[in-house]
Amino acid sequence: MSDRYASFAHWAPGRALVRRLGLPDPPRLRRYRPGDPPVAGPILVGGSGRLGKPLQDIAELAGSAGAAGSTAGADEDRRIAGLGYDASGITDTAGLRGLYDFFHPHARSLRSGGRVVVLGTPPRDCATTAGATAQRAVEGFVRSVGKEFGRGMTAQLVAVRPGAEDGVEATLRFLFSHRSAYVSGQVIDIEPAPANPPADWDRPLAGRVAVVTGASRGIGESITRVLTRDGAHVVCVDVPGVGDTLSTVANDVGGTAVQLDIAAPDAAGRLAGHLADRHGRVDIVVHNAGITRDRTLRRMQPEQWDAVLAVNLASQERINAVLLDRDLVPDGGRIIGVSSVSGIAGNRGQTNYATSKAGVIGLVEAMAPVLAERRITVNAVAPGFIETGMTARMPMVVREAGRRLNSLAQGGLPVDVAETVAWLASPGCAGVTGNVVRVCGQSILGA
Ligand code: NAD
Repeated sequence: MSDRYASFAHWAPGRALVRRLGLPDPPRLRRYRPGDPPVAGPILVGGSGRLGKPLQDIAELAGSAGAAGSTAGADEDRRIAGLGYDASGITDTAGLRGLYDFFHPHARSLRSGGRVVVLGTPPRDCATTAGATAQRAVEGFVRSVGKEFGRGMTAQLVAVRPGAEDGVEATLRFLFSHRSAYVSGQVIDIEPAPANPPADWDRPLAGRVAVVTGASRGIGESITRVLTRDGAHVVCVDVPGVGDTLSTVANDVGGTAVQLDIAAPDAAGRLAGHLADRHGRVDIVVHNAGITRDRTLRRMQPEQWDAVLAVNLASQERINAVLLDRDLVPDGGRIIGVSSVSGIAGNRGQTNYATSKAGVIGLVEAMAPVLAERRITVNAVAPGFIETGMTARMPMVVREAGRRLNSLAQGGLPVDVAETVAWLASPGCAGVTGNVVRVCGQSILGA
């Protein structure tokens, strides 16, 4: 469904009116297009600590002249596409002043749609109370910048555990690029893991087999297309009732269509059988299929509760269990669950849905440490309001609130979720596990 308000606000006379009346002013977001440079433009870097090198490397990739702590490049007015800051050297409250000193003068130099990325240390890894306090404080700074800068800018904190310094490139490439247009205010934890950069950054998933559930439309279709663009062969799963559209998508991407109701008792076994017979393995599992049956708890029928829990959560548990049990997910495998911001914040009329989506987060958090031994990562993406058939069915007032109550004042597109999934699926993300990454433009109300 098209966002008529955003179209109006992008039209020059409409924009003037929107500004005069102080209404939400959604910026035009620039999304990645094949052929775009790996990062969006010059990056200026500052701060000091153990993470200066990865930041310098990404700045060099971007063709930036910025050296740590220097102001070179700032005079190129609004052409700076990113500000990167190594906060890992901050060991106490006084050190936090470095954030102000670096970002205050440069905040205005950042172009529309610019990126802020701060690298730090997870507080639990700090040797002192003062250090842990300061590192936790950095999160408040980053989240506020994400809400404050406007004009399509995003801000993230990457918390890099000691020993994981070599494993941040794929994440920095994602966060500094147009691929992360609708991701803001996130804290991404990186664990130590053997660095495994792809041979070709344009096709990082070449040779990988992926399965995507709910692949016939909406977010699942977009995930299918983006994983294919990145080189994967995608096994597309959806219910038999949409078999034609599923085949169209699968044919279009050169993948395989599998008609399957994932809530059926034998679904996991049938899917595992297909993957074993055709491919002998599955490298990337994306649990995207999901349904809503919204009602307040008082009015909810038991079948509405059961259906949502069965499709959104129990199927993910069962499919994971069977695929892992049959050793079909190899070393370096990726499991990605699609959760929802409703599962983090709760939502009126969605007790069933929010329960299922919070359960997806619980599943990811519980499985990640267990599967680390097998070098399989498990993460979740939690979309906010994404323009699909699911949100088109919402009542108008709820839909408008969903679109505007985020720092970018607009809904996201399926491709925003798909790009985030593709980043998590990439071989360079071996240390990114147990994370829940919101794709929501950052709520202006909550975290
Ligand atoms: P959608 O309704 O457009 O697509 C969902 C797909 O899942 C459909 O193709 C459907 O046929 C398939 N599906 C449903 N039940 C199935 C089953 N039993 N077996 C196999 N396939 C099944 O929804 P969407 O907006 O693209 O959402 C995709 C995922 O993202 C869902 O998990 C949803 O909960 C989540 N999500 C969406 C939003 C949003 O704003 N659109 C926000 C948060 C989370």
